[in-house]
Amino acid sequence: MTWIVKCEKCGNVREVYVSYNIKDLKRIYIYCPKCRENTFHVIIKRQ
Ligand SMILES: [Zn+2]
Repeated sequence: MTWIVKCEKCGNVREVYVSYNIKDLKRIYIYCPKCRENTFHVIIKRQ
């Protein structure tokens, strides 16, 4: 599933593919290419 997420640290909005359903989560901890580290991302919507 592809989701639109926003990095809480830098505000970068991007698409990510996540193999499991994250609709019940408010945010996920994944790698941000802009911050170049793992950060919390707010889940905006399913693409
Ligand atoms: Zn970031």
